[in-house]
Amino acid sequence: MVAPEELADLLSDPYRVACPNGHTALNPAETTPSAYCRTCRESYHARELADRRRDPDPCKHHRKRKD
Ligand SMILES: [Zn+2]
Repeated sequence: MVAPEELADLLSDPYRVACPNGHTALNPAETTPSAYCRTCRESYHARELADRRRDPDPCKHHRKRKD
């Protein structure tokens, strides 16, 4: 999820915000807190989008434990 007030800022990094299907390089909308995915041909509200830095891949665990 992306906070609507942060969306425009996060979209300045094209690989930071992903659509619900995992696509990046989204186009910010000018008048609403949403972004358009060219791959899906859909527009998504900020709350439907993923901030890839704040919500990292769940499978990336640090392996610091022994055994
Ligand atoms: Zn998409």
